Amino acid sequence: MSDIIRLLPDHVANQIAAGEVVQRPASVVKELLENAIDADAREISLIVKDSGKTLIQVIDDGKGMSTMDARMAFERHATSKIQSADELFNLSTKGFRGEALASVAAVSHVTIKTKRPEDDLGTTISIEGSKVIAQEPAVAPVGTTVSVRNLFYNVPARRKFLKSDNVELRNVTNEFHRVALAHPKIHFKFSHNGSDLFNLPAGTYRQRIVNVMGHKVDDKLVEIKEETELLNIHGYIGKPEYARKTKGLQYFFVNDRFIKHSYLHHAVSSAFEGLLSQGSNPSYFLFLDVPPDSVDINIHPTKTEVKFEDEHSLYAIIRASVKHALGQFTINTIDFQKD
Ligand code: ADP
Ligand code: MG
Repeated sequence: MSDIIRLLPDHVANQIAAGEVVQRPASVVKELLENAIDADAREISLIVKDSGKTLIQVIDDGKGMSTMDARMAFERHATSKIQSADELFNLSTKGFRGEALASVAAVSHVTIKTKRPEDDLGTTISIEGSKVIAQEPAVAPVGTTVSVRNLFYNVPARRKFLKSDNVELRNVTNEFHRVALAHPKIHFKFSHNGSDLFNLPAGTYRQRIVNVMGHKVDDKLVEIKEETELLNIHGYIGKPEYARKTKGLQYFFVNDRFIKHSYLHHAVSSAFEGLLSQGSNPSYFLFLDVPPDSVDINIHPTKTEVKFEDEHSLYAIIRASVKHALGQFTINTIDFQKD
C-alpha cells in the first residue's frame, strides 16, 4: 500500500474524463449519433429540449444490446469495437475509446432502453452520476434509445459556462449537420422543443447536402471526383460567384468522419485564388477516402483533429482536384455562353 497515493474511485475518474469528451450538449449529440451509426441503424431520431440542457434523446433502429452489454456499456474503456491496439489503425467504426457513455453518465441522468432482434424483451437502465439506480426488463422495439437529462447537474461550474440557448442549439445543429452529411444513406430526424427541424430521407450525397443546407444551394454546387493511389476525393465545391464575405460552409470528411484541418483548408482556398474577391471564403463539402492506416484519428478525444501520414501529397492532390473542377466549371460556362 502506498503512503499517500490512491487510485481515484471510478466515478471521480469518469467525471474527470468527461471534462474532455463532454464539453457541451453538442458533444453528447455527437457521441450518441455516432453510437447509433456504429450499431448499423437505418433511421436515427434526435430529440432535444432546451438546446440539450434539459433533454438529449437519440432513438435508433440498430442492433441493440443484451442486458449484460447494456450495463457494461457504461464502464470506462468498455467497447465492442476494438480489442487490440493494432485495430486502431484499421478502424471502420466511429467509436473505439469506450469512453463516451461512461463520461456522459458521470455528468447527467441517463436512461437507456435497448433490445436486440433475437431477444423477446429488452432492458432499461437508469444511471445518475455513474450510479445505476434502476435496471429492469422492458418491452421495447429493436434498437436503442438513450436519453440524457440534466446535463452537468453535478458540475455547476460547467453548467454555468454553457452559452445561451441559441448558441448551444446552433452547436447542436452544426453537429447534427456534420453527422447527417457524412451518412446520406441513413434517414435522420431532428426535433427541438417539439417542433420538427429536419427530416432527411436516405439519398445521395448531393440530395443530403441540399436537404441539410436548403434548396438554394442546389444550383451552386460543382462536383468533384478524383481517384488517386493516396486518396479518393468526391463531393462538391460552391461556385466562385456564390462565395460570400462570411466564413462560408466548409466541410471535410475523412472516411465518413467530419474533421477540421487548417492545412487542407488552405489547399482548397488556394485553388480558388484569383476567382474570389478579397476576404470572401469558398464553400465546400469534400469527402476524402484514405487507407485507414494512413490517418491517425486518435490524437484528440473528440476525434475532429486527425494526423495524416503524408499531408503534403494530400495537399497537392486536393488543390489540383479543386482547380480541375473549377477549370471544368469555367470551361463549361464559356461553352454555354458561346451557344
Ligand atoms: P465506443 O463507442 O467508443 O465503443 P461508448 O461509450 O460510446 O464507446 O459505447 C460503449 C459500447 O456500448 C459500444 O462499444 C457499443 O457496444 C455499445 N453501444 C453504445 N451505444 C449503442 C447503440 N446505440 N446501439 C448498440 N450498442 C451501443
Ligand atoms: Mg461511442
